Amino acid sequence: MSEKTQLQAASDVNQVLGKALETWETEYPKIRSIRSYEEVFWSNQNLKPVEDAILETGITLEQIQSAEHRLKRFAPFFMEAFPETRSTQGLLESKIRRVESFQAELEKTPFAVPFGRLMLKLDSHLPISGSIKARGGIYEVLQHAEQLAVEAGLLTPGMSYAAFAEPRFKKFFSDYSVAVGSTGNLGLSIGIISAALGFKAQVHMSSDAKAWKKALLRQKGVEVFEYDSDYSVAVEQGRKEAEKDPKTYFVDDENSLNLFLGYAVAALRLKGQLDHLGYTPSEASPLFVYLPCGVGGGPGGVAFGLKMLFGEHVHCYFAEPTHSPCMLLGMMTDQHDAVSVQDFGLDNRTIADGLAVGRPSLFVGKVLRHLLDGVFSVTDEHMLSDLAMMADFESLRLEPSALAGISGPSWLKRDTAVYKALLKRYTPEALNQSIHLSWATGGSMVPEEVMEKDIEHGRKLYKKTL
Ligand SMILES: *Cc1c(COP(=O)(O)O)cnc(C)c1O
Repeated sequence: MSEKTQLQAASDVNQVLGKALETWETEYPKIRSIRSYEEVFWSNQNLKPVEDAILETGITLEQIQSAEHRLKRFAPFFMEAFPETRSTQGLLESKIRRVESFQAELEKTPFAVPFGRLMLKLDSHLPISGSIKARGGIYEVLQHAEQLAVEAGLLTPGMSYAAFAEPRFKKFFSDYSVAVGSTGNLGLSIGIISAALGFKAQVHMSSDAKAWKKALLRQKGVEVFEYDSDYSVAVEQGRKEAEKDPKTYFVDDENSLNLFLGYAVAALRLKGQLDHLGYTPSEASPLFVYLPCGVGGGPGGVAFGLKMLFGEHVHCYFAEPTHSPCMLLGMMTDQHDAVSVQDFGLDNRTIADGLAVGRPSLFVGKVLRHLLDGVFSVTDEHMLSDLAMMADFESLRLEPSALAGISGPSWLKRDTAVYKALLKRYTPEALNQSIHLSWATGGSMVPEEVMEKDIEHGRKLYKKTL
């Protein structure tokens, strides 16, 4: 944080939206713990029947399916431009996998999984950019490219999208730019796909962005702007720059429906994977999903898609760092982007760079207001300790953000009110048949030496908890 914003945070900290902090703490007692950087769990008391809540949003299954179809149309392009996608016929998808050894190891800690099986969704290993951003970010650029190509008469009905890998398409797109603000991974996804299509790309990076992510982008010919401030400022700068040039398209991580739809496609794909396991979320075997949350678009899109497909039998929770619980504060107070973590005296400094966001998306907060089951927070030490355990017991290498969700299952019992409510709804047998799916949102692109350092650090912390 710059000195100026630090001073500002200190002077404004006694009032938020004209209300004294003590009043906020009286109205929302969890704010006291949040302000002390403690881990908390918030359970949403505003849930509505899923069908009603979805209708209110105005977003339809057809829209998600149409996004899926667009991704399919681009499959031949992916196979041309990114040979690593040939084994999946040009689809960008990740596996789900059980983590039995990890789950057994958790038993020795205060964060044991209370019932059911723990699984991971390995978006950490998505092709092209190695994070959940390969879903929404890439999708939105494709959508834009398709629109430009159709308008210019380059793309005609019946043509294979392999054409997007041809020099004449690249030459056409080289007249246009794509811009985005990012803590790192979104910039990486959009930078890589834009460069592959021939667009000029400008990525506005917050101070959290890791050096290796910036270096990789520059190597791909992407123009990287760095700011000594947090994500919201990087986005604002990106938006301003883009507005100056009609040929620059700004990917708006805070408000984009397209981005959201791209993420939501994950739900359709997951359904296929669960079918394959012979598992359907139901009264007899509910599904619990834990999604690391930054500004909210990624986890929001996925959670929305899952609610659309599985209705009342999927329960979705967001996970945030204790230093950046923006969605937690936004949803709990119903103030969404009108409040930031800095307003409440928090520093938005976390090792989980993908989640270092101080102000949540209003769009996502509104869409999920009656759908999201809860939000919880997790310390940096906790994420690092889980990161080391995942490396040591499952040989899985993830970035810190990707571990935020893994303590989610423990809250379902640690929070006695939640446990009681669950036992009212489900039989103990049903809970034992449940699956906990922790979304592992990134990691495969982290350089070896950075990864080793985090693992080493995490091992020390892990030993302390035993
Ligand atoms: C961006 C990101 C998230 C969260 O996505 P948002 O859309 O910002 O909420 C989670 N994990 C990783 C690794 C990310 O890069």
